[in-house]
Amino acid sequence: MADVAAKVQPSPASMDDGDNVVRVEDLHVNFYTTLGVVRALNGVSFNIPRGKVLGIVGESGCGKSITGLSILQLVPPPGKMVSGKILFQEDRTQAPVDLLQTDRHSREIREIRGNQIGMIFQEPMTSLNPCYTVGAQIEEAVLLHQTPDKAEARRRAIDILQKVGMPNPERIADNFPHQLSGGMRQRAMIAMALSCTPTLLIADEPTTALDVTTEAQILDLMRDLQSQIGTSIMFITHNMGVVAQMCDEVAVMYLGRVVERATVDEIFYDPKHPYTVSLLRSIPRLGARRHERLESIKGSIPDPYSSVSGCPFPPRCPAFMPGLCDMVLPEETSIAGNTHHTVRCHLYPGSTPSSVNIPASSVGTASNSNGAG
Ligand code: SF4
Repeated sequence: MADVAAKVQPSPASMDDGDNVVRVEDLHVNFYTTLGVVRALNGVSFNIPRGKVLGIVGESGCGKSITGLSILQLVPPPGKMVSGKILFQEDRTQAPVDLLQTDRHSREIREIRGNQIGMIFQEPMTSLNPCYTVGAQIEEAVLLHQTPDKAEARRRAIDILQKVGMPNPERIADNFPHQLSGGMRQRAMIAMALSCTPTLLIADEPTTALDVTTEAQILDLMRDLQSQIGTSIMFITHNMGVVAQMCDEVAVMYLGRVVERATVDEIFYDPKHPYTVSLLRSIPRLGARRHERLESIKGSIPDPYSSVSGCPFPPRCPAFMPGLCDMVLPEETSIAGNTHHTVRCHLYPGSTPSSVNIPASSVGTASNSNGAG
């Protein structure tokens, strides 16, 4: 890591507003396709506090997975990280490294990938190599980053398989991925991601393909391991129930932007952005009337090839203010001075740039139809 810090100049931006493992600033990622440019990330900013779990939530296509892949310099072509900063600070004593400035094939980023930052992918059957045993795949990461001693790597592989709750880890280490059940394959993925005790773990929908019982076990396991090892987790999911169970803080994404950030309690008990409110209304609730229908968010996300001039939520927003929302992009603002709770919406003071004259008709609409209540 010392080599990395030496080669990549620390960014002038500091991480001194809290103890964060990662701070992403105004990240833009585009995909250059034959049909046009898809702006997958449109200025994403958030931070992951050390030792905490940050949930990244939103509908499919909002940019959650691309954000995770960007941190590891794994955005697939024709995608390109255009601008922004991804400041990674392995521990408090070291200067942050801007991962965006590293070459995706360089020794520096390979030293970080799998070692200081681990990743659990959504579908273990396509992420584990079918030609190698589970043990060999875990040992490979340990041999590459931790120790050249093969016997020690084997011991560590078996140890981490035991930690993730595998019965008879010595036997499992000699199994190929196809010999394991879905839940065991996901545990093997978690073991591989944690084998080098990373500072940050990126978990991209790690329980989506599992049944609810196995999902509950995997979530318990991740929470236990997180408290034992102290790893920070970036937990990508579209499932608000999983967020409530796993996360300390939440960033809600919509069309390549973070539209609301807050603690998990603030998101569930005091959501501000109309999109967050709609997301919460679309999940089942204990105590709801028996035949009550779940609400769905009407409409769909805008065409990713089109460029949106104002807020991207208007076609679906119950609090839409014509002449303002569709014309002016809301800025991120704090809720009542709480710097941990921020929102991007013209309903809140500070989101509308001061240079913008608010049409009188819009003000009336806002006060009458605040969908964020
Ligand atoms: Fe966007 Fe306006 Fe709705 Fe806020 S009120 S989410 S700015 S459309």
